[in-house]
Amino acid sequence: MADTSTSLDSRRRFLAQLSLGAALAAVAGAAAALPQSEPDPMKTTDSAKLGYAIVGLGKFATQQIMPNFKDCQHARITALVSGSPEKARKLAREYGVAEKSVYSYENFDSIKDNPEVDIVYIILPNGLHAEYTIRAARAGKHVLCEKPMATSVEDCQKMIDACNKAGKKLMIAYRAHYEPFNLDAVERIRKGELGKLRAITSDHGRPVKPTEEKADVWRVDKKLAGGGSLMDIGIYALNAARYLTGEEPEEVTAQEFSDKSDPRFKEVEDNIHFTLRFPSGVLASCTSSYSYAEVKRGRAFGDKAWLDLDPLSDYYEHNLKIGDKEGKREPKLQEGNQFAAQLDHLAECVRDNKTPKTPGEEGLKDVRYIMAIYEAARKGKAVKV
Ligand code: NAD
Repeated sequence: MADTSTSLDSRRRFLAQLSLGAALAAVAGAAAALPQSEPDPMKTTDSAKLGYAIVGLGKFATQQIMPNFKDCQHARITALVSGSPEKARKLAREYGVAEKSVYSYENFDSIKDNPEVDIVYIILPNGLHAEYTIRAARAGKHVLCEKPMATSVEDCQKMIDACNKAGKKLMIAYRAHYEPFNLDAVERIRKGELGKLRAITSDHGRPVKPTEEKADVWRVDKKLAGGGSLMDIGIYALNAARYLTGEEPEEVTAQEFSDKSDPRFKEVEDNIHFTLRFPSGVLASCTSSYSYAEVKRGRAFGDKAWLDLDPLSDYYEHNLKIGDKEGKREPKLQEGNQFAAQLDHLAECVRDNKTPKTPGEEGLKDVRYIMAIYEAARKGKAVKV
């Protein structure tokens, strides 16, 4: 059966789901339709936007996050923090950041005196998230922190405590929660379009190449990464199983295999398969790997229909397919800018004093489940969570 959604319908759904300024901006045509002389109500003046300091100018920060500020309605880059002054100065010029707002890791704490910075976005190796979140909170700044939140449950709790103590927001950058295809999938499941949900599968893999990719060097270092493919990308499968079901798992099982003669896997795991059992009886079966060819997909199986997100967690070009006894269909959805949406979401939460959709507690839950998955793999038996 062909899907009858018009692009207007999908636009409306997209707007309703996100209710974010960024989403409004991302819908092509809305602004263009306004007469030239009228001020655009969607546009926030630059000085009214909240200021973000970007901590860590690595691959993800420079190639994805910073360029996508262009679509933000409520957020702008006002400071940079880096160990490389030359790189930071070059990027500061490119993004119009004042030279006095470029910090090193050593003088980062003096960011407390910079009124242009409202939010600090931590995009450092996982093992450094806790330290910089706590320092940012102590400097009186709100925090957006990359996934995984930290490398231990204890560190996650310390981050939450530090932000609470400082009276500052803490959000974990789970961008899929701000991505229209994932939001649409969740809505379809909640409305019962698949019938009774029975199972989830999700696979996330990519080859790590620390000899070729600088960003992969710390990924195979246990102290900086906290773990291997599960911490880095398996977390998308774990988190998706939770938001697709809307439930918390009760029990996990896992098996891990890493070729210890491969220098990449001396400290962190390569292949891991884990299952999550949810209270409703849904079973999620997930894999992650540092030696698969790239894959980032998720599927949900109900007793009436199935739904396929492939990719589920990519940066761009998402796909959603639904299948039932009448055949397969592909709803026409509008691709959004999940990066801008999440940056704007936290800015709006700060401005309106609201709790972010993906607060520190959400990050802590995943780290807790990750630890249970590692324990299950180690012990070779199911672990209650
Ligand atoms: P990267 O190696 O490219 O960037 C890390 C940055 O941290 C570099 O600029 C590096 O110089 C700096 N750094 C500071 N101290 C360091 C130290 N002691 N060792 C190593 N680097 C140090 O890595 P990345 O791929 O940009 O990942 C950074 C973070 O972003 C990680 O937490 C990762 O999980 C997360 N990430 C998220 C997504 C997503 O889609 N949400 C995608 C990629 C990465």
